[in-house]
Amino acid sequence: MEWIDFRSDTVTLPTPGMREAMAAAVVGDDVYGEDPTVNALEQLAARMVGKEAGLFVASGTMGNLVAILSHAQRGDEAIVGIDAHSYCFEAGGMASLGGVIPRPLPTDAQGKMDLGEIEAAVRSDNVHYPKSRLILVENSYGNRQGFPLPVSYFASVREIARRHGLSVHMDGARLFNAAVALGVTADEIVRQVDSVSFCLSKGLSAPVGSILCGSAEFIHAARRIRKSLGGGMRQAGILAAAGMIALNEMVDRLAEDHTNARQLAHGLAEVDGIGVDPDSVKTNMVFFSLRDDIPLSGEALVHRLKEQSGILTSTFSGPRHFRAVTHQGIGPAQVAALVAAIAGILQSEIGGGYGQPDWSHN
Ligand SMILES: *Cc1c(COP(=O)(O)O)cnc(C)c1O
Repeated sequence: MEWIDFRSDTVTLPTPGMREAMAAAVVGDDVYGEDPTVNALEQLAARMVGKEAGLFVASGTMGNLVAILSHAQRGDEAIVGIDAHSYCFEAGGMASLGGVIPRPLPTDAQGKMDLGEIEAAVRSDNVHYPKSRLILVENSYGNRQGFPLPVSYFASVREIARRHGLSVHMDGARLFNAAVALGVTADEIVRQVDSVSFCLSKGLSAPVGSILCGSAEFIHAARRIRKSLGGGMRQAGILAAAGMIALNEMVDRLAEDHTNARQLAHGLAEVDGIGVDPDSVKTNMVFFSLRDDIPLSGEALVHRLKEQSGILTSTFSGPRHFRAVTHQGIGPAQVAALVAAIAGILQSEIGGGYGQPDWSHN
């Protein structure tokens, strides 16, 4: 049985075109700067986001870590959203490996830190304090259902950073989802920040890799940090070849993922017992919940979807809360299958009143 996998867009497999390009890639030793495919990918990526230079890294986590360690020294402080990926989900690397102290701030319903609170968090020059050095932002915002934050927010953050001599790094793991959803180019967003990292391996479907972009000087420093973390890879052009296709061919289709995510939310909204807000779906993620009075645990629902229908889902940020992510492997049929499967399980669990949703209006 082939799984229908809604757990993440990280599960996307390389396309046949990517596999062909990987097999045919012209490669060299990238630590010597001699891999033409890596060089081409770094240049293409930098051009797409309007920065001088790019650096191919193993993962989004490595991209953020290399960026933080390039911007900040041990004992420096980084202002960051309290539920940002770089603070919550990167194993504390900025502190454990870089000695950089996170200064987490609350975020609003869209994932924005309050501008006044950012400004107030900037330390004055006092021997007791760590030095404020960096502001970390994220777009799209993972913990807010992939909300695409507007360019104007980053312009305001940049202005605060400029006033206080701080750098701004964007965790843009899903930068292109944000750009597509906002109807702007990636470089319009990235213009507001000093550096950005984005994943080739999520919705863009490459098997491995992220890109860090910034000024030529910044990337020069970042290249040494990457080496120190063991991220200097040799014939990495094999991987970069897939990354080229990710950037050239997979960006525009992200709009389909967003349409399918909205469709999923509208379908789930018609299932009695499921809580979901279709209006909050802006990119490729749907968060939904199981109503408290439904006599089924979140874990049990995940288990039954897998056993009965071959559908993989996961709970997220709560035992009765779920995240479903759309991607290259999810089309309208898979969306319909998930809605029908959930409706069926709830119906059999409770009996009566939990009808199949009406798909005729689609
Ligand atoms: C996935 C993700 C990362 C990390 O990427 P990995 O390649 O999994 O290390 C960083 N930030 C955000 C917002 C992400 O969604």
